[in-house]
Amino acid sequence: MIDLKSLTIKEARKKLDEKEFSAVELAQAYLDEIKKKNKELNAYLEVFDDVLQQAKVADAMIAKGELKALTGIPIAIKDNILIKGRIASSASKILENYVASYDATVIAKLKEQGAVFLGRTNMDEFALGGSTENSAYGVTKNPHDTARVSGGTSGGSAASVASDMSLCALGSDTGGSIREPSAFCGVVGLKPTYGAVSRSGLMAATSSFDCIGPITKTVEDAQIIFDAIKGEDKLDSTSHFSQGRSLRKEGKRIGVPWDLINQEGIDPKVKENFQQAVKNLESLGYEIKDIKLPNCLALYYIINFAEVSTNLARFDGVRYGAHKDGKNLLGDYLLSRGTGFGKESRRRILLGAYVLSAGYYDAYYGKAQKVREALKQEFKELFSTIDLILTPTSPIPAWKIGEKSDPLSMYLVDIFTCTANIVGVPAISLPSGFMDIESLPAQAGKKLPLGIQFMAPHGGEESLFDVGKKFEGDFLG
Ligand code: GLN
Repeated sequence: MIDLKSLTIKEARKKLDEKEFSAVELAQAYLDEIKKKNKELNAYLEVFDDVLQQAKVADAMIAKGELKALTGIPIAIKDNILIKGRIASSASKILENYVASYDATVIAKLKEQGAVFLGRTNMDEFALGGSTENSAYGVTKNPHDTARVSGGTSGGSAASVASDMSLCALGSDTGGSIREPSAFCGVVGLKPTYGAVSRSGLMAATSSFDCIGPITKTVEDAQIIFDAIKGEDKLDSTSHFSQGRSLRKEGKRIGVPWDLINQEGIDPKVKENFQQAVKNLESLGYEIKDIKLPNCLALYYIINFAEVSTNLARFDGVRYGAHKDGKNLLGDYLLSRGTGFGKESRRRILLGAYVLSAGYYDAYYGKAQKVREALKQEFKELFSTIDLILTPTSPIPAWKIGEKSDPLSMYLVDIFTCTANIVGVPAISLPSGFMDIESLPAQAGKKLPLGIQFMAPHGGEESLFDVGKKFEGDFLG
């Protein structure tokens, strides 16, 4: 029996190499777990039927000594990342039967390493949301309390790692979609520097914010995957080679935006947990400094709506997507898009068209771009006085399925995460403990995970791994 609960990529690598178990045995162990749990949690939209064949190929590589970091490592892939010959639906009805015609660059890199793809994971449609409740294929439940959401938009990926239905996963992050579900599910999630990982083959949500990144159990595992997928790519003109920057890896100055954290709307238990994390970091020798950070939600959403409405224009039922016949061409479009897209996608298409319209462009989108530049400058100055920024990952823990009925309350959850995407800096969410759920007697004894987030300057992933390992080590005792 392989003990999946405590298994990490690092240990699996060692045991595969030492032939303690084979890639086929490892893959089978995950398939068994998926069989037991996925019906209830709904983390996977599809489990691939050739998992064991893929694992056999990995075993052959291992037998030949062709060892790479991820050879034989089972990984779950978010449903907006293309794998050639497989369906990629972005959890939307409009792409229900869309089959990818090429591999995303990250997939090509993982294939080359001999990773084993377990399946495609559930998400909010087109990566718009924060709970996977916007999926056209049902919500992903939180493995720690199935009455609650797993977070989103990479909820399926985070839940699969947290429930041992995968060893690790890829997610995408436009405003928090790797970090928030990681925090809700008690796992590690990294949003890399914008451009450090190629976006080729990732379905675009907000092209200037989108990043692919790992969701894992440990910081070291996140680093292993990041190293395997990063790098400049000629298929993504915004990608760049981010290594080799002179960063203070051992930076000990951590800025905390207390004003932003001490606002109304932050759950008192989140605040308490955060204050404890700050104390732990102080005892590890970090210096905590009070900094000011603006609330960037309005800025984030104006740019998000604008780019989403533009990016989703390609799904017209002609070039891509399910086609519905109307009376004429316009009728075709209206019917295909009207029935193919879910509510949140339609909302953002409308709002995006509005902020980009001739009369309002300058007031909204144009102004947002100016503010974005000013914010980048502000961050540059900030990072000359501190090495890292620390916040809770989310202002609230995982909520009950269906509890948030208005979109605005869901948007507010991104208050700490969206800033890194606007500026393009890397950020990591780390598990920071649990809170008791006391509200319902039936839930007594259940605990919900919480997370903290570090941001570093552009290209500063190494400093995130460094502080992450120390915090995690201290935390796990
Ligand atoms: N919650 C944010 C949004 O709805 C972030 C989503 C994401 O990162 N993909 O846009």
